[in-house]
Amino acid sequence: MKEIVCKLLVIGAGPGGYVCAIRAGQLGVDTVIVESTKAGGICLNIGCIPSKALIHAAEEFDKVRHFAGAKNGLGISVEAPRLDLAQTVRWKDGIVGRLNAGVLGLLRKAKVKIVHGRAHFRDGKTVEVETETGTQVIRAETVVIATGSEPVELPALPFGGSVISSTEALSLTAVPKMLAVVGGGYIGLELGTAFAKMGSEVTVVEAMPQILPQYDAELLKPVAKRLGELGVRVLTGAKAKGLAKEALVVETASGEEKRFAADWILVTVGRKPRTEGWGLEELDLDHAGRFIRIDERCRTSMRGVYAIGDVTGEPMLAHRAMAQGEMVAEIVAGRKRAWDKRAIPAVCFTDPEIVTAGLSPDEARAQGYEVRIGQFPFNANGRAMTTQQEDGFVRAVARADTNLVVGLQAVGAGVSELSSAFSLALEMGARLEDIAGTIHAHPTRSEGLQEAALKALGHALHI
Ligand code: FAD
Ligand code: NAD
Repeated sequence: MKEIVCKLLVIGAGPGGYVCAIRAGQLGVDTVIVESTKAGGICLNIGCIPSKALIHAAEEFDKVRHFAGAKNGLGISVEAPRLDLAQTVRWKDGIVGRLNAGVLGLLRKAKVKIVHGRAHFRDGKTVEVETETGTQVIRAETVVIATGSEPVELPALPFGGSVISSTEALSLTAVPKMLAVVGGGYIGLELGTAFAKMGSEVTVVEAMPQILPQYDAELLKPVAKRLGELGVRVLTGAKAKGLAKEALVVETASGEEKRFAADWILVTVGRKPRTEGWGLEELDLDHAGRFIRIDERCRTSMRGVYAIGDVTGEPMLAHRAMAQGEMVAEIVAGRKRAWDKRAIPAVCFTDPEIVTAGLSPDEARAQGYEVRIGQFPFNANGRAMTTQQEDGFVRAVARADTNLVVGLQAVGAGVSELSSAFSLALEMGARLEDIAGTIHAHPTRSEGLQEAALKALGHALHI
């Protein structure tokens, strides 16, 4: 097969890789992208999109079940609803398919050459790809590693049989009667909540003293309350020890050994970079722990080799990967760029949702700031009342000396959509007065942001 020579080679077509390739193509850079499975990566095929599809279906089913139950005050009643999970999964696969084709179309539009197969490094600028029609050698001036991540396996609970990762959980065709989730982080709680809403009896086993340990206890309260309402059993400070006769063996926080029967055991204890088994070891790049070390331009320790996305470490989020991909494409095209983001927002799609950008009050204090905090509860927000979802709040964290906003957080129904307002405020260096002085449409949950800023300034209007 004829060797391909190009200016830019991107390995992996996840959100990091495909965005990098599209932008490079738009800028006229001769670009090749290699993908071993399907365009869109983890995010589009077995991550963000399919999980949010399942979460939506579970929410709708839960809502209808609620209407079929006791009086709900709205005057709506329905007959006993049923869920056909196999059909839900087909619907989810349809969305994935549409996005998949969309990404391939965008790559073609940007004149990016797509090679299907697994890349293996020969040296820092040359890879071999095992394609359906033979070995394809590709030589490039610049290489971008965007190979993403894979689930961490627990030695006591290796994947296989009834022990599954998020990938399998997103394609179950029947709702499990009993589901055990090991790891109460992002995936465990998003999917655990969804399955509880679909009717599973869910047990979450979390090693740390708190589920979602990266969030402060106040943000977590409404989520913990809702888990309780859904009947999810949460064991914190607990260790999963292994399997015994279709039951998960757990050492509880008090040192007791307990068994929890489960049809499936979903292990979600984090993800690790995909850095092994494809010749990367021989490049001898510098690492930061298990991840590839990068600088503020996503350069690795080898000249002309960049790395972006999950393979470079936390936060392992699709929008970070995309932002890095876009930046690297522009650098390769000769533009002056460096990572100068003030905030990478994070959203946890639990019930209710949690959104954060910038510093929490404790993080701000730890950085030496004296802080001014304003918090506005959704039970004082008209829109929240009319949607019967009043739990949660918006919180603004600002420097006490200048009123510069350094962090914004919220927990509540639909607050994921506040993430752009939060990031914009931080990127633009907003002060409390800027947010307070901006007209927020009524009635919306976003009024909570304006009120949180007003509260921090000492003159909230609606509490
Ligand atoms: P990936 O998406 O992992 O893509 C890497 C690509 O490289 C893959 O397609 C892989 O096949 C390919 N590849 C690897 N090795 C080779 C090779 N040698 N040759 C050729 N191709 C190769 N993030 C969010 O921001 N929001 C969410 O709501 C969210 N939900 C998630 C839900 C789940 C269940 C999971 C698992 C993850 C979720 N994430 C979410 C995280 C998000 O999916 C990742 O941060 C994102 O996909 C990382 O993008 P990436 O481009 O770095 O890598
Ligand atoms: P995570 O890091 O979010 O959570 C893992 C949890 O498992 C932690 O709470 C940890 O304390 C716990 N844990 C670790 N070892 C354990 C053990 N032996 N027993 C019990 N608990 C244990 O990881 P995840 O949920 O696997 O998700 C991986 C990554 O994917 C996330 O870090 C995030 O970057 C990304 N993701 C993002 C979203 C989103 O943005 N909404 C959704 C899903 C995944």
